[in-house]
Amino acid sequence: MPDHPPAATAARRRASHTAFARARGLIPGGVNSPARAFGGVGGEPIFFREAQGQWLTDIDGNRYLDYIGSWGPMILGHRHPRVVAAIEAALARGTSYGAPTEAESRLAELIIAAVPSIEKVRMTSSGTEAAMSAVRLARGVTGRDKIVKFAGNYHGHGDSLLVAAGSSAATLGVPDSPGVTAGTARDTLVLEYNDPQELEDCFGREGDEIAAVLLEPVVGNMGLVRPEPEFLAAARRLTRSHGALLVFDEVMSGFRLALGGAQEILGVVPDLTILGKIVGGGLPLAAYGGRADVMDHVLPAGKVFQAGTLAGNPLAVAAGTATLEELAERPPYGQLERHGAALEAGFRAAAAAAGLPVWVARVGSMLTMFFQPGPEPVPVRGWKTASRSDKARYAAFFWAMIDRGVYLPCSQYEALFLSAALTDADIAATITAAHESLAG
Ligand SMILES: *Cc1c(COP(=O)(O)O)cnc(C)c1O
Repeated sequence: MPDHPPAATAARRRASHTAFARARGLIPGGVNSPARAFGGVGGEPIFFREAQGQWLTDIDGNRYLDYIGSWGPMILGHRHPRVVAAIEAALARGTSYGAPTEAESRLAELIIAAVPSIEKVRMTSSGTEAAMSAVRLARGVTGRDKIVKFAGNYHGHGDSLLVAAGSSAATLGVPDSPGVTAGTARDTLVLEYNDPQELEDCFGREGDEIAAVLLEPVVGNMGLVRPEPEFLAAARRLTRSHGALLVFDEVMSGFRLALGGAQEILGVVPDLTILGKIVGGGLPLAAYGGRADVMDHVLPAGKVFQAGTLAGNPLAVAAGTATLEELAERPPYGQLERHGAALEAGFRAAAAAAGLPVWVARVGSMLTMFFQPGPEPVPVRGWKTASRSDKARYAAFFWAMIDRGVYLPCSQYEALFLSAALTDADIAATITAAHESLAG
């Protein structure tokens, strides 16, 4: 990695430097999740003390416009009054009972009403758990072992899914993890995204052994990659004709690209959907759901085991319910599209002014500017094209934006997320910062 950030501006983050040194002695790598470690941009992570609306404040007192939103959940911005009030009201009644509540059914109703393909839904504490559980369910229902995933798609860190898993893994240069057994990896078939022929060939060879095809219907975890209609159509057709399940991982895209997620705008109906991030409103909650006849195989309705001490936790359910109600009653999607389009055009213009070949990909409020080797930008369609990106250029851009008070993803292979708290003036200021950062 290049030598970023410059020493002069690093001096503004002394407290973060000290905090990181301490954390490194106590927590592996100083962080509780590798995506936060700044491995993809060099330098040290910034430690935060608070957030409000569209703003993050670090422990040195620097303020940043937040284009991460905790990697997706904070679509309403930080400390949205409705969400805060819901959490406070739940807190006053106790934090966990390990027994059912009516509030869980209310959240389930909201999810089922919003997401076209979901008839029944089970809640978990993390997207990782939800994805692992969906895979177990697909295997349990079909009686088959193999699953198909796509290079650069991330489905959490369950063993069978931690193969060619995108951003964190790619950034750290460990596409597969030690500790995942060869036997487990063998049941996971990894194909190239947006390649319907490869998928067709795969089903031709071993279609009767495949339990499920998992995919991000709009990919966020190798940077933003849009699905091509023929690819999604092939995935739907092949799974149906071979008796496999089509599983959409909408942990990022769910409630973000539309209230009904990517499946609403793409018009493709999966058998199962994995949700996380926004569905918990900033607290630990995720879910998986889909066809009632499939979901009724989950214990205790059926025999496929899955459980959680804190699953359906009252505080998380309150935060998620308030977030989904706000999104349904005052949909921010028009504003997010307008801001996303402005940012996309602004980033393109800034790169063109600097003579840099970039591919800017966007769907709604998710966006990635891929810095390319050039001379001409080529479309990023999957991991083969995404992984050609110029990570050093991205790192330089990232730190220049940090110095101008804009907090972007600390990896070329993560999408940025807009929140509804961002204003027209914030977007304009961000575009100005991008012009300065790329010219410099
Ligand atoms: C974040 C993410 C996950 C994992 O969710 P966690 O809550 O971090 O375990 C799974 N799939 C996708 C698409 C994600 O973006």
